[in-house]
Amino acid sequence: MFIKKFELLFLGIIVLASLILAKNFYDDYSFKTNDIPQSYKDRIAQKEQEVIWLMQKNYGFSFRVPLIVTDRFKGRLYGLTAYKNGEIKIYLNKKVMQESMDYMVDSVIAHEYAHALMFKLKNFTKGDGHSKEWQKACLKLGGTKCEQYVNSHDVVMGKLPF
Ligand SMILES: [Zn+2]
Repeated sequence: MFIKKFELLFLGIIVLASLILAKNFYDDYSFKTNDIPQSYKDRIAQKEQEVIWLMQKNYGFSFRVPLIVTDRFKGRLYGLTAYKNGEIKIYLNKKVMQESMDYMVDSVIAHEYAHALMFKLKNFTKGDGHSKEWQKACLKLGGTKCEQYVNSHDVVMGKLPF
């Protein structure tokens, strides 16, 4: 009788573990195949609003650029600012969003918006775009990580890398 109970308990644990595993798998899967969750969209929109408010406050003007979440990124870039035919667009990497959403919100959005601002101000510096002016802008827009010497080629003029 004791053994029977024990087996039942053991079976129960296995069933439960399988369910949790399936749930995790499903969450992962649904994230990859579907649009991003509403809670993520809300956080991104809220942060964007904050960045734009800071821009208005510090520069006396503000603008909005399309923020595009895409899984077409290759490699580990978090975001990308593209300038093409006078149009500025920011791309965010959907593939790293699930594990790095806090970083995305706290750092990447202001970082990329600072690049967008440089384009808007026609500040086309040589190099990878992480100039002293960019750094100031990044901090003024509320970025928490605005190091100048980041090794990320996240400024693109012309053709997108994906
Ligand atoms: Zn950058």
